[in-house]
Amino acid sequence: MSTASKDTPLHIGVLAIQGDYAAHAKALRETGAEPVLVRKPEELSSIEGLVIPGGESTTFLKFLTRNGFLDALQSFVRNKPTFGTCAGCILLAKEVRNPSQESLAVLDATVERNAYGRQVDSTIQLGESKIPGGPLEMVYIRAPRIVKTGPEVEVLAERDGFPVLVRQQNIVAATFHPELSSDRRVHQLFLDLVREQRKQDL
Ligand code: GLN
Repeated sequence: MSTASKDTPLHIGVLAIQGDYAAHAKALRETGAEPVLVRKPEELSSIEGLVIPGGESTTFLKFLTRNGFLDALQSFVRNKPTFGTCAGCILLAKEVRNPSQESLAVLDATVERNAYGRQVDSTIQLGESKIPGGPLEMVYIRAPRIVKTGPEVEVLAERDGFPVLVRQQNIVAATFHPELSSDRRVHQLFLDLVREQRKQDL
């Protein structure tokens, strides 16, 4: 955002058409950022980073493909920091399986939807990650599995040998839901990327 100065709070959009966007907005507020609920393509112009929350990726797609929103999102995520959790991670991935579906295709990864079963497949685990400060609580809800990543993708945490938290330049994606835990380190990591981008843009 061209009007941002070094000290103005980070304006972070949260795609608010479906899913657990309210939990992300709360998490962002707790980390000192200013959440902006995004429901229309034109609202992307006022934000410096975007969170694509968990929910149901097919429902997101139904809405997004209707009014040109998907194209607007695609150009946003190619240029600005974006953080996708669960369904958000599915929407960011280059390839989606089980079944195959359209995506924003910016994260060099192959993602399998609902990879841990269909109904009773939600679990909370503590996992090691590259984020300092000890194990992270990871809340999985009908989670996808990242089965393949490209060379530019840094794996920040794994579950059973598969990546669950990754970063590729200024894209962060998690197959779990950091917004549903009280630990804010993953959101902080994302906000650090947004701050970096702001420095470059000023
Ligand atoms: N199962 C959902 C999907 O495939 C993702 C679940 C979630 O976001 N918690 O889109």
